[in-house]
Parts: sequence; structure tokens; C-alpha cells
Amino acid sequence: MGDNMKWVYSFGADNAEGDASLRNLLGGKGANLGEMASLGLPVPPGFTITTEVCTEFYKNDRTYPEGLKAQIDAALIQVGESVGMKFGDKSRPLLVSVRSGARASMPGMMDTVLNLGLTDETVEGLATLSGDPRFAYDSYRRFIQMYSDVVLEVDHHSFEEILETYKEEHDYFLDTEMTADDWRTIISGYKKVVEDALGKPFPQDPQEQLWGAISAVFNSWRNDRANTYRRLHHIPESWGTAVSVQAMVFGNMGATSATGVAFTRDPSTGDNYYYGEFLINAQGEDVVAGIRTPQALTKESRLKMGDEEPSMEEAMPTAFAELCAVFDKLEKHYRDMQDIEFTIQDGKLWMLQTRNGKRTAKASLKIAVDMCKEGLITEEEAINRVDPHSLDQLLHPSLDPDAERDLVLTGLPASPGAASGEVVFNSDEAERLAQEGKNVILIRVETSPEDIHGMHAAKGIVTARGGMTSHAAVVARGMGRPCVCGAGDLKIDKSEAFFTVGGRKVEKGEVVTIDGGAGKLFFGAVPTVQPELSGDFGELMGWADKVRRMRVRANAETPHDAQVARDFGAEGIGLCRTEHMFFEADRIVAVREMILAEDKKGREAALTKLLPMQRSDFEALFKVMAGLPVTIRLLDPPLHEFLPHSDDEIEEVAKSSGMDAQKLKDRAHKLHEFNPMLGHRGCRLGVSYPEISEMQARAIMEAACNVAKETGEKVTPEIMVPLVAKREELAFLKERIDCIAIEVLKENGIKLDYLVGTMIELPRAALTADAIAQDAEFFSFGTNDLTQTTFGLSRDDSASFLPDYMRQGIFERDPFVTLDPDGVGALVEIAAEKGRATRPNIKLGICGEHGGDPDSINFVEGAGLDYVSCSPYRTPIARLAAAQAKLRKNDGGSTA
Ligand code: PEP
Ligand code: MG
Repeated sequence: MGDNMKWVYSFGADNAEGDASLRNLLGGKGANLGEMASLGLPVPPGFTITTEVCTEFYKNDRTYPEGLKAQIDAALIQVGESVGMKFGDKSRPLLVSVRSGARASMPGMMDTVLNLGLTDETVEGLATLSGDPRFAYDSYRRFIQMYSDVVLEVDHHSFEEILETYKEEHDYFLDTEMTADDWRTIISGYKKVVEDALGKPFPQDPQEQLWGAISAVFNSWRNDRANTYRRLHHIPESWGTAVSVQAMVFGNMGATSATGVAFTRDPSTGDNYYYGEFLINAQGEDVVAGIRTPQALTKESRLKMGDEEPSMEEAMPTAFAELCAVFDKLEKHYRDMQDIEFTIQDGKLWMLQTRNGKRTAKASLKIAVDMCKEGLITEEEAINRVDPHSLDQLLHPSLDPDAERDLVLTGLPASPGAASGEVVFNSDEAERLAQEGKNVILIRVETSPEDIHGMHAAKGIVTARGGMTSHAAVVARGMGRPCVCGAGDLKIDKSEAFFTVGGRKVEKGEVVTIDGGAGKLFFGAVPTVQPELSGDFGELMGWADKVRRMRVRANAETPHDAQVARDFGAEGIGLCRTEHMFFEADRIVAVREMILAEDKKGREAALTKLLPMQRSDFEALFKVMAGLPVTIRLLDPPLHEFLPHSDDEIEEVAKSSGMDAQKLKDRAHKLHEFNPMLGHRGCRLGVSYPEISEMQARAIMEAACNVAKETGEKVTPEIMVPLVAKREELAFLKERIDCIAIEVLKENGIKLDYLVGTMIELPRAALTADAIAQDAEFFSFGTNDLTQTTFGLSRDDSASFLPDYMRQGIFERDPFVTLDPDGVGALVEIAAEKGRATRPNIKLGICGEHGGDPDSINFVEGAGLDYVSCSPYRTPIARLAAAQAKLRKNDGGSTA
């Protein structure tokens, strides 16, 4: 690769070499700047260095490709010419911003550097040229601080301390009160900080500054924060980042200048009005930094918030009208809600960024449904607009309106949802405690990309500083964590042992409850209630249901869970784990009796106790499911979960069974397994003790008959045999199940369809599925065990070392969460094909955890399964994901 490669794409000043179609090459930011420029919107001119440069940079030991420098120099000259300036010139210095821009938005990478190109010399030129020395020095001090922080990695606290002390000493409250001379003094202080920290002066060569910033962006692609973010969001490292360099426009040029951020619709609720904040006489970082409180964009929102300061609509009506026109144009063009950054320099509007805005699940739904009704997008596009994972947010509880509550503080309602947890003050601790299984609420003055892991670990986030577009607000919303930000009364003690609000104190470890939607924090654990789903939800789900091919069932054992599943639209039960029905105190003793019985007689005595319990359980389940198919799996207990451990437990079984306690103890000891997951479980139990399977078959069939008679509705039991490896295992049990079924139907004098099938959980079963299908009327892929056995990776033990595999990039995803398409997925495909070869109408489903994971659902759509089965709360996610998978398949498999 050499001189003939194009590494740099220009935009602005009536020119755009790239547009949104080049997103992979130019990153989101660069592509959209090009796109806006080609739409004729006012974009300051600039250029984007491609993601291919990033790839080359890493391929060649962090060096740049040949020809890049010449292309950058040429582009800089072009930018300078179009604004009548020149980079590094003493009297007409071109200043630029440098920003990172990956394909997907990537918090954690290098932040923006503004005002690059300022030096001791050029700042004088800027002062003369603008006739406003205060503005020039303000820009210079901002540049030194930003550049030192993000490029030179000098601790930013030292800069803040200098400024705070200076303001205190001079009785200033706001930065805007500082004069040119004040800033000059601050600049000397800042430069000294840099020199002390680095042992050399702040760089005075604009070229050195520029390359320093470009390298900082590329280097940040592989910093820890970016690595973490990529891991959490499954962004491949190979994508790389682009760098955008753009002529500065200045929002800090006095009262007719401003800077702001805006969304074309409310990103929290999805309501269709302009939503945003702006600050007069300020630069971009001031809006998100939370030092000055930004003003509302529209008069209506100002009045709603009870703000005194004028809105942009009132303070700058002309620029506001222009901005509104841009909003409309962008929304129509992108056909999606936009998140925009803009600057007004001396009354003139400039667009600095647009992208599809991050939003809450609620807003995502509303915007998709509204836009479809507005005719902007189709129903199918609306389906694709909502991330199935995000529905989780909507299905989460909110505070019980009738519950008592004791308010700690009020802040901004940054991200909805409610959660309780222990107070923690730093992200590492939040992560540690969460790993120990604790619920934590992270309380911070403000958050930065360094807090991503803590925010992810926390159940909720509260910050003292920052507005609705602050880091905490944006990130929490994206993660679906409830968040309250800008709680100004919150004071965190230096010791990080407690915080105070007014006169009240809350200690670390104390339990609090956050209500993100209301912007409030309460003492103690406030009870929560399940959400009421909006009409938008039902509407979108209806569209999804029309589109999807696969059925969605739920994994449920209790009538309550089955009801939840039905309420969420489940079309049957795909897995009823019968061993889960035995954990209650009165039952576990009978199960232990059964397991520990010395002979068939003893076992049958225990089974006689269990039969009526099982029968009534199944009756309840069939009733709730009202004619929908119910797959009941025969007992699959990892034995160790059921063996009695304490003397008391042994004693209890002894009393109930009449067996000798010592004998029981010996038997329990004998039954101990070294590797229970590969031990005497699944169908193996039925092979050893067929009477157990027979009892279950009887309970299922009797329950089905009873309910069919009682309700007059159709009941369709599907009896499922677990952990089959050989056809003969299934044949052995099927024969017995059929015998019992025929007997029960005869006893009851009714006809009723039932199916006998198997789980496919072992590689051998998948590979011999054609033989197994001779007996199986359905397959349900138990991908939890199939993943375990394909990888030889323990379901119970791998959590301790899987993170190493993820960190090393050996696994991109946890294979127990997202189906491994190449190995486990291949087995699913083989089994499906072989099963169908023997029995063309064999019913195929998946009931491992993957059945509720959108990517895995996409995979099994490809394999042509008939249904997925997942936990009740994931049912809506599965419905939507199944629709998206179908649409993708219609599209020829391209990823949406
Ligand atoms: C499976 O193995 O995927 C499955 C659904 O069964 P269980 O999780 O009960 O082992
Ligand atoms: Mg299993």
C-alpha cells in the first residue's frame, strides 16, 4: 500500500468526497459530516483520515502508511484556503478540532480536542484578528487543558484546581467573568503544570500538536476503556477508528455565540419535540461538563423545567429557526431521530455532528411506531429499529406507587427504571461487589468513560453534576440502567465513606432505591411493581408477530411463570423442567426417598407419594396454557442437587421412609458422583429406574385427561426425554411411556394426542439424529448442555476462566449466552437436517438459554427450527428477534 491509496477524504465548503455510504471507511462521524455537507448544510470544512489508516497503523507497529502526510498537508491547505486561514500562520492561524470516529459510537476512546493549532505565537494572531483577546486566551487555555488531558495524559485535576483557586481568590463565580488577563495568568499556570509533569514544555509546533492528536486517537482504539466497551458491545477490533479534523467555529466569541447539543425527539420518552440544551459564549465541552447549567432549547421545555434563563428559541430566534429547519431536513433524510451538535458563531449556525440518537427502550419503541405512522418508515423498518435486548428495560419494574418512601434527593430524570442497592462511590468497587452478587447503586460526582465497567455492574447510577446530555445520562440510557444526574445537593465526602444531602447523611453500604424516571433517590428498599406496557409495545409486537415464522414458547414450571409467559405472548411451553417442581420442602423429602430407596419397592412407595403432586402440578399448567402445547421433560436432576447433606436432612428422609439413617447416609455416600454433569442424570435415571419415568408419564397423561374433561379444551402434552445419546435409550423409554399413555387414555375413555420426543443435548445425539428421529416425534435443542458437551466446558465452572478467554479474544461472546455458530450451531444444523430426513414433519425447537438471545434466534431461523423457547420475561425479546431474523433471511442473510 502506498502513494496511490486514498487515506484522506475532505468535506465542507460545498464539497464532500465521502458520505454516509462510506461509514466503514470514514467512521460514523466522518461519514455524517460528509453527508451533511452534501445535503448543503452548514458544515465547517475539514477532512477525515480513514479507518484503513488505523488498520495500517496497527499492522505496521504503530507507524503510518506512506503518502498519508502529504495527503493531510494538502487537505489542511485546502481547508485553510476555504476559510481564509492557514495552519500555523502567525496572523491568520487556522485552528482545528480533532475527533475520533469509529463505525459505531465508541465511548472510551480519545475525546475531542478543540482549538488545535494555538501556540504562544498564533494566539496573538487570533487575538488581533478577532479583536477579542479574551476569546483568544479563553480558547488557548481550553486547548492546553484538553490537549494535555487527552493527548499528553497530564492529570486534569491540576488544571481544574488552578482555575478554581484563581476564581475563588478573585471572587469570580463563572468562567465568563474571567478577563483576557485572567486567562493569560491561567495559561502560564497551565503551561507550568505540563512542564512539571512531562519535563518539557507544552508543544509549540502546530504540526507536532496535530500529529500528537491523531496518534492519540489511533492509540486510544486499543486502550483499556475502548477494549472493555468493544467487548461489552461485541464490536470487532478489526474495524478501527477514523479521525476527523475540522476547521474550528467558535461558540465562545461572546453573547452572539453559543454551542449546544440536541435531539430531534425526546430520547427519554420518544415524544416528538425538539429536545436539547445550549450555552451562550461557550465551547462544546462546557455543555456536557456540567459546570454551567445549560439553557433549554425551546420555550416550552424551559417553562416545563421552570428555568429562568431564556431558551434558545427566545434568545436567538433566527439561529433557532435555522436549526429547526436543519432538524427537519436531517430527520427526513436519515429517517431516524438525530443527535446533533451545533455551534453558533456570531449569529451563524454551524453543524458539527449528526448521528442516530441513542434512546431508551421506551423512546425507541415510540419513535419507531410514530415514524411508521408518520409514513417515514415501513412496519418492517420499525421492527428492525428496536433492539430486542432493549425491551428488557420496558419489562423492568418501577416503584410501587402506594409504597412509603423517604426521599434522599432529587435530580434530573436521566434514564428510567427503578432499582435498589447498596451505596458505592467508585466503579471498581461497584464491579467487585456486583461480582459477589450484590446489588449496588453507584454514586459519583460525575462519570467518565473510566466508569463504564462500574456503571455496567451497578443497578443504578446517581451523579451530582451534569445535565441530560452528560456522560452519565447518555451511557446509562444506552445501558438501560436507571440514572439520576445533576443532583446538585449531593455532596460526597472525600473519604468516600458517606454522602450528605442537606442535613442528612447516607453511609456507604446503606440500601437506597433509585427511580430514574422521576429523577429521585430514596432511603431503603422501596417495593416495585411490574410495568404496564404501552400501546406502542403491543403495536410493534403485533407487527413482529405478523412477520415472524418461528413460534415463541417459554420455559416455565409454575402456573405463575406460565401466566407471565402467556401475558407476554408465549405460544406454548417449550420446556417444563420437572426437577424444578421438587424443590419445595414437602416434596424434596419424597424425592430423596425415591433417589435413596434401596430397591424398587422402596422407590415405588416414594413414587406413590409424588404422583398426585406431579399430577396436580401438570393440571395447573395445562389449565393456564389453555390448549397451547406444553412440553414436559422427564426428570433430569443432577443428582448432587438432590442428595441430602446434613444429618437433619438424612433424619427427615429416615423418618418419612422408615429407612435406617446410617444406611441412608451410606447410600447417599455411594451415590456421590465425581462428575455429576456427566453422571447419572437425564434419561440414564429412567434407564436404571423405569418406574420413575412411568410415574411421570402417568402423572402427565392423567393430568391431561382430567383437564381435557374438565375444560372441554384440547390438551397437547409433549413428553420429552432428556440427555439422550443413543436411539436405544429413547426407544427404551418411549416404549414404556406409550404403554402408560395408552393405559391412562383407556382408563379415562378419551382420545388425546400426545407426542414423545427428545432433547438434543449431546454431540452424539446430533450426529445420529436420523436414527433418533425414528422414535422421536420432536427434537428440542438443549443448547446449554450441547454447548457444555461440545466444548467440553463445564456450565458450572467455566465462569471463573471464561473472562480470560474473552479478554484474549479467543471467545468474542460467552458461548453459554450466544450460540457458537461454528461448532454447536453446526451440530444443530446437522441434527435438524438428519431429523427431517427421517421424519420430514418432525417438530424442531430450542430450549437452552440461547432461545432468548437475539443472535442465537437469528441463527436458528437460518437452521429452519419451528420454535424457540425462553424464560417468560424474554418472550417479547424472542418475538421481536424472531421477526428480525425472518426479515434478515428474506433479505438474503445480510445483517441489519
Ligand atoms: C439445556 O441443556 O439446554 C437445557 C435446556 O436443559 P437444562 O438447562 O435443564 O440442562
Ligand atoms: Mg440440559
